[in-house]
Amino acid sequence: MAFDDAPVTVIETRVELGRGALAREPITVARVRDERGRTRELRTVGGSTPRGFVRLAGHVVPFVGAVVRADLLDLPTRDGVRAPAPWTDLTRDVRAWTPSTPAGTWPAAALPVRFVLATPGSSALGASALAEIDVALRTWAEVPCTAFRATLAGTAAVGAADDGTNAIVFHESSWPAELEPGALGQTVLHVDGSGKLRDADVHINAFEHRFALTGEGVTVDARGVLVHEIGHALGLGHSASPLATMAPSGAGLAWRTLEPDDVAGVCALYPGAGAARCPATACPDGYRCVGGACLRPGEVRSVCSPCAREVDACDGAGEGARCIDVVSARGDMTGRVCASACAQAEPRCPSGFSCKPTTAAGDDQCVPDDACRAGASPCGTTEDCRRLGHATATCIDGACMEPAATPAGDGGAPDASAPAPSPAPADDGCGVAPGPSRAPPLAALLAVALALTLARTRYHRRR
Ligand SMILES: [Zn+2]
Repeated sequence: MAFDDAPVTVIETRVELGRGALAREPITVARVRDERGRTRELRTVGGSTPRGFVRLAGHVVPFVGAVVRADLLDLPTRDGVRAPAPWTDLTRDVRAWTPSTPAGTWPAAALPVRFVLATPGSSALGASALAEIDVALRTWAEVPCTAFRATLAGTAAVGAADDGTNAIVFHESSWPAELEPGALGQTVLHVDGSGKLRDADVHINAFEHRFALTGEGVTVDARGVLVHEIGHALGLGHSASPLATMAPSGAGLAWRTLEPDDVAGVCALYPGAGAARCPATACPDGYRCVGGACLRPGEVRSVCSPCAREVDACDGAGEGARCIDVVSARGDMTGRVCASACAQAEPRCPSGFSCKPTTAAGDDQCVPDDACRAGASPCGTTEDCRRLGHATATCIDGACMEPAATPAGDGGAPDASAPAPSPAPADDGCGVAPGPSRAPPLAALLAVALALTLARTRYHRRR
């Protein structure tokens, strides 16, 4: 048990306003005594519920006499006191997703939930910050089985506070001491006495982490973290499913897309019908609608972006996405792009895509009908691909594609043979060649395990 997990007894509590970036945010201050009789004061923003905590003016604080963890997280009390838990019915069957801390959902009248980007915004993302937040908000609202809706109401000179203004704050000059040390981000929720959310502020730790639009190298993918934090802001806690976007740690671009467990969570909290996707709703300026998602031109590892056959080549295109071979009408394999997964039994590909098998083992992908001409990286010449940052891609049929001759690997799958011959020519100019099985070789599995370990090391404080 780490020191901060040791139980302490609360001997005094109060709520006071924070300092610096949290100047208007109520801070829980608890005077606690440890098992050896030593006392000290703990400060935290937000708080845990339901056991051992009470809500004071919408703020969750531990009650005097409660036994809690020294980081003020939840710990069962000896007397078993329980506050009302609005999720009891929803969480009765075992699921990986969990409700947020404190648990709450937005009342129907508060939908769409309005968020603002607190000025000065993000120096790393610059003018793209608003669009990235917009796309992250859509990601949750476009789940087909949810009534959750959110909108971005531009920028505002606001700070974090329990004031009904839902701010997204990039902290660049310091990370407040009351927030989780080292975290990539933290979302502070304020819940009223009936379990309804009334304020959610998203804090992004740009002081200790380098955020970028692509998540390449040592940077952290801003959109993925925004999608994760907005999951908290709508009432989800961390998921026990390591694949989920709401898992407490992750890496690369995988958090950009929601996985089945995230979908189950948002649909349980807000059942209903999802928002229309693009092209029915316009994408932010500078973004393109590709396969029902708004992407920036040149975006990598997303649907219709050029890819090589390597582990995580397409992790921005969702769980089960693969780097597929695009085949011309004549049956020549022309190049490789990312494609999202689908199921032949229930094909649900966006318009312009058809669900087809892409490996001999029966992996099904949404294959672009038009060779990705309208895709993430449209081009006139190969020079356009270079300009979009695809150093080795070639412009084929109006889309940047990785050359088919790229050797080795396959998003975790072997590529033992040369590019598969005998493709099934498609009547609409583009098809797909069944490739090798998706079963990963041992080396690839080891690489994945290593990558996960590294990711865990790197992101373990993410929340
Ligand atoms: Zn989290």
